[in-house]
Amino acid sequence: MREFLGILSISEGSLHFWYKETMHTAMFVRRIPLARCSSRARCTFKRCFNQKAKNAVEGEDLSPRTSFFKIFGVASTFLTVGFAIGFGLNNGNHSFGSTTKLKDLKPLVYASNDRVQYALSNIVKIVGEDNITTSPGELKTHSEDPSKFIEAKDHEHPYAVVYPTSVDEVSKIVKICYDACIPIIPYSGGTSIEGHYIPTRKGISIDVSKMDKIVAIHEDDLDVVVQPGVEWTYLNEQLEDYGLMFGPDPAPGALIGGILGTNASGTNAVRFGAAKDNVLSLTVVLADGTVVKTRQRPRKSSNGYNLTNLFVGSEGTLGIIVEATLKLHVKPTNEVITMMNFRDLGDASRTVSELFKRGITCNAVEIMDNRQMNAVVQMGSGGDRKWYPDHLLLLKLSAVDDTSLNSILKTVENIGKTNKAFNIQVAKSKEDKEDIWRVRKTLLWNSLGWAKKYKPNAMVLPTDVCVPMSKLPELITKAMAMLESADLLATAAGHAGDGNVHVLVIFEPEQVQEAHRCINEMSKMAIELEGTVSGEHGIGVSEKRELLERELGTDTIDLMRTIKYALDKKCILNPDHIFRIDPSENRNPFK
Ligand SMILES: Cc1cc2nc3c(=O)[nH]c(=O)nc-3n(C[C@H](O)[C@H](O)[C@H](O)COP(=O)(O)OP(=O)(O)OC[C@H]3O[C@@H](n4cnc5c(N)ncnc54)[C@H](O)[C@@H]3O)c2cc1C
Repeated sequence: MREFLGILSISEGSLHFWYKETMHTAMFVRRIPLARCSSRARCTFKRCFNQKAKNAVEGEDLSPRTSFFKIFGVASTFLTVGFAIGFGLNNGNHSFGSTTKLKDLKPLVYASNDRVQYALSNIVKIVGEDNITTSPGELKTHSEDPSKFIEAKDHEHPYAVVYPTSVDEVSKIVKICYDACIPIIPYSGGTSIEGHYIPTRKGISIDVSKMDKIVAIHEDDLDVVVQPGVEWTYLNEQLEDYGLMFGPDPAPGALIGGILGTNASGTNAVRFGAAKDNVLSLTVVLADGTVVKTRQRPRKSSNGYNLTNLFVGSEGTLGIIVEATLKLHVKPTNEVITMMNFRDLGDASRTVSELFKRGITCNAVEIMDNRQMNAVVQMGSGGDRKWYPDHLLLLKLSAVDDTSLNSILKTVENIGKTNKAFNIQVAKSKEDKEDIWRVRKTLLWNSLGWAKKYKPNAMVLPTDVCVPMSKLPELITKAMAMLESADLLATAAGHAGDGNVHVLVIFEPEQVQEAHRCINEMSKMAIELEGTVSGEHGIGVSEKRELLERELGTDTIDLMRTIKYALDKKCILNPDHIFRIDPSENRNPFK
């Protein structure tokens, strides 16, 4: 039996009814749009309300003295809760549903210039004059993507860049921005390439690079506590003496905050996973300045929501990471590089699958396609070694001792030969290994140099789709055919062990639209093959925002939007990144 208790509020064109479930003595609220209330319902509501008032006045169930207070009490409770729901929680862009649809939201409005200037005057008091700048150069650096293909317009550059040095400072700055409704753009090393830290609504760039301390190395537990401004290569240098290392290996210059912010990885991912697999705990400053720690340090924990990984890959849209406890790995010793060529991409892919199925653990599994290798041969960039213009598979292998390693190498060679590999070589000396790996590391510049021989004004756009491993040859073959028919040059290289490929699309300035069209088509191909638009670079404010909806479905994006609004109801944290949060905004030029 439901007993009608009253109306809580009228807001956003809806009546909020309050019922008591007498069987279970539970209270609940039912929200009915006014337009959908039948006249009968309106009458029932009126009758019930009148009856309650009548009963109260006649003292049927209440004494006259208490009835006044009870009616007053009930009425004020109704009003308070009604206000809370009607004008508080339900204000602006809040939704009660599990998912939040873009069309149901209102355009976002942020602080005026005057308000920002006042806020900045308070932020200076927190960080000191040396740790805040409005220099045009700094503002530009914090608005410029290394890829140069996504740019902030001049009027979008941040008002200021702030360099906090402690958790407390970050918290205080964020609280000021929250109160004044000023966008915040977290910034670490500035190496992300999808417009991740490009401000879309001015705001304040919070650069964590001065929070660069290694707080504690727990050698016996294989973990390390770091501030977000620690560079991963520096961290590995400090871990060298312990024989330990951090797993992900993105661009040199990337800092822990950004690595976690983008869920970055690299060539080591096949063995050590992406950033999300390498973090135990995070301390995060939330949108209103609250500081939370997601968990303690143990390797395992079943302690409720996995908040740690909620923040990993969130691109600064849910909170600012101010400290991280990272997993460490024992650095492989006794490591060699095996290289082998293939005429057919499918054979290379089958080799990788078979290695995995035979239980061979590789520290890296990289592929460079025949166009990429053709560029190496033509440019003579591989040194004295003889290189073939055919697909090249590079494997990093290690074992505890030489006997085990030799046994692994024998198996690898056999599997390769079964799949028509040729030119199988093993590099054991430091020099040999560096020579081979250099070809992999310099492929971007090598491809560009080669392309400029044919197209002097050539530019390159790196891509980052990822598919189930076995589908990689199909993806690369289809993508190359499409690019060729669009008169675009391209080479491909990737993390074959993860199905992640970077097709480098090379074009002249007048072909930029066509290049973007093809890249979008390639993303669609990856989605068709049950893959993703981004294996490691992330979404930012690139065209992938639109494609992500195709990959995951509208409801999944709407769920992300609910999470965003739940944690950041004023949408001040890196607005507009990953997915749209404002129906009036549309940055993507390629709809
Ligand atoms: C030449 C080159 C090679 C690359 N190779 C790889 C590769 O192999 N693998 C790979 O994964 N990526 C690669 N990248 C991309 C890039 O290196 C990674 O995305 C990297 O993780 C970005 O780190 P960053 O410190 O530069 O972050 P930034 O670019 O400063 O920021 C990245 C994102 O994280 C957010 N963020 C920054 N700090 C914080 C914080 N403290 N809390 C919360 N959010 C934060 C920012 O708002 C932004 O959205 C490459 C890039 C280049 C230019």
